[in-house]
Amino acid sequence: MKETSLLLSVEQALDKILGYVDVLEAELVPILDCLGQVLAEDVYSTINIPPLDNSAMDGYAVRAEDTRGATEQAPRLLHVIDTVAAGSISEHEVVPGTVVRIMTGAPLPKGADSIVRFEDTDEAQRQGVSGEIGILYEVETGRDIRRAGEDITHGSLVLAKGVVIRPPEIGVLASLGRTEAKVIRRPVVAILATGNELVDMNQPLPRGKIYNSNSYSVAALVKRYGGIPQILGIALDSESSLVASLRKGLDADMLITTGGVSMGDYDVVKDVLVKQGKIAFWTVRMKPGKPLAFGIVRGINGVGVAKNIPHLGLPGNPVSTMVTFELFARPAILKMMGKKNLTKPAIEAVIEEPIVNSDGRRVFARVIVEKHNGQYFARPTGSQGSGILTSMSLANGLVIVPEDKSGVEAGDVVQVMMLDWNEEMG
Ligand code: AMP
Ligand code: MG
Repeated sequence: MKETSLLLSVEQALDKILGYVDVLEAELVPILDCLGQVLAEDVYSTINIPPLDNSAMDGYAVRAEDTRGATEQAPRLLHVIDTVAAGSISEHEVVPGTVVRIMTGAPLPKGADSIVRFEDTDEAQRQGVSGEIGILYEVETGRDIRRAGEDITHGSLVLAKGVVIRPPEIGVLASLGRTEAKVIRRPVVAILATGNELVDMNQPLPRGKIYNSNSYSVAALVKRYGGIPQILGIALDSESSLVASLRKGLDADMLITTGGVSMGDYDVVKDVLVKQGKIAFWTVRMKPGKPLAFGIVRGINGVGVAKNIPHLGLPGNPVSTMVTFELFARPAILKMMGKKNLTKPAIEAVIEEPIVNSDGRRVFARVIVEKHNGQYFARPTGSQGSGILTSMSLANGLVIVPEDKSGVEAGDVVQVMMLDWNEEMG
């Protein structure tokens, strides 16, 4: 990492970043905390699900041959020898001429081979439960029985390593009786805002200052993609302040700074990290977000061992911060979490207004995407200034205007990166 100022494409910048990012270790966590994480073990079942043959209906457990010839006019009368509910086991055996009244989920009594539903008996015509029941229709063997192990068989591989845990997987783990699962751990992402102009939101706002919003939009993005944000606060545009603040984040898995990477007099992120010799400044051919810094900070883990922390120096303008996060920090976080699908889904949409691309960069324009008659339409959110954070709030997508195009006309079909769609949909 020697280059200091390279002109890179979005793909080249991302490749370089991902080249320095590794998948984190696995940890055992309570199943409900695994949501969105990648399974780091093969999960086998030590039980059958369901454990026993059981009834899929409320009705009567019968021997199918005892129902032969049953009709509404000439019901087959059988003796009711027991009633069994889900969670209980009948001690009685269904011998010829007998039935056990059974509720959904109750294990099938010995001797029975099928279920006759209540509505296929004359139970409704009888006053209360009596000693016998009339079967109105024949049933075939196996009717309305859920077989032991039909969902999961004992010894089978139920969830394979690499699966992304969603609500159904948490349910499956619970159905196996698992309280914990081994997953790739979530990265801790330290977030540091830089700028003399910044004030934290619980303070009065003096003239000439602005509230720090980047730390919170970035922290929210970190959470959305599964990481654990660690907000380090605000550093002034001075070396000493920056160094002091960075020290608080040295056990993180990734460091994100915002601001201070441009050409201004006070852009000290640059100076500080250049001195450590481990940072590259890139001019990424994109808009918003041209200046981007990427480096490695020497950190130290929880047990005192030195480690390298990837550092992304995002530009300070609030929209640039968020867009560069989506393009570079998001995939890095997902890779750390063991995810394979790092790409935001993109769709094709008809753009409703022209977008100009004046300087050969890839433009990411904020748009509102709506679907009409099966076709997506994208409408720019108004001013595309990189300080207009509310335009990001209106948007649900970013139209991509390629660097080799001078713009798009209204009615053109464009690619839109869908900000609120999940990578797993790609
Ligand atoms: P910089 O990249 O440091 O030159 O910052 C560019 C502009 O982004 C600044 O002039 C501020 O208006 C804005 N900005 C920088 N950091 C933040 C922040 N943490 N929260 C809100 N706005 C910011
Ligand atoms: Mg600044």
